[in-house]
Amino acid sequence: MTAPLLSLDGITAGYRTTPVIRDFRLSLAEGESLALLGANGAGKTTLMKVMVGLLRPWSGRVLLRGSDITEVAAEERPLLGVALAPEGRGIFGTLSIEENLLMGALAVRRKEGRRASRALVAEGLEQVYETFPVLGKRRDDKGCHLSGGQQQMLAIGRALMARPALLLLDEPCLGLAPKVAGELYEALGRLSTAERGVVVVEESSRRALGFADRACVVKLGRKVLDCPAAEAGDDEAIMSAYFGVE
Ligand code: ATP
Repeated sequence: MTAPLLSLDGITAGYRTTPVIRDFRLSLAEGESLALLGANGAGKTTLMKVMVGLLRPWSGRVLLRGSDITEVAAEERPLLGVALAPEGRGIFGTLSIEENLLMGALAVRRKEGRRASRALVAEGLEQVYETFPVLGKRRDDKGCHLSGGQQQMLAIGRALMARPALLLLDEPCLGLAPKVAGELYEALGRLSTAERGVVVVEESSRRALGFADRACVVKLGRKVLDCPAAEAGDDEAIMSAYFGVE
């Protein structure tokens, strides 16, 4: 049996002496997309930090395709195929769209060497522009001239340039108007899921449920629900029990 793409094996984590995540278990198959949902302060971002290596868990293991990466530093994880598009975007305003995307390809260059990476980078740009056509049209525009939604697309595009096996999206719709958030998820739906697993963190979002294969709800640092996304979205009792129905 092949190992899951990602496993969180009994993770307990927190800050100083305060535990936030408690004995958390999660497994994500290759090509699967997961919506990680929960109220403000439930611990979603903390879990994300454990996945990318910014926070070392107090106990438990993070496994990528069966290999224990718990002790691997955050800056090394992109080389293993873990990429984060963070909340707040963090793009380079003075660089063009294409330059921002090329910055995301540094992990590919380090991993594949200069010659092999050239073709992969070109392929990556093509894929990003196919997924987010507006970025292709404006490839020479500076990052600071983009709208909030376009900046978010660029942050995701930059993460994709690392050719991740696991793409983590932290609240991609934060601060976006509903129409723009809809467009963003529509674009995400165009991504071929066969090539990568995706974890998207949202406070509460029907859009995330429409996009994901599976839903996992976090409450006070514990997993309280893990089911097919369609089931969670259809169940009004679940939706209103864990978060206000959107
Ligand atoms: P949000 O939707 O607000 O981002 P969240 O589900 O992502 O919420 P976390 O950001 O993981 O939740 O926070 C979980 C708990 O951990 C909260 O009680 C928060 O106050 C606490 N916390 C988060 N970051 C820190 C930190 N750096 N130091 C101490 N406590 C923290």
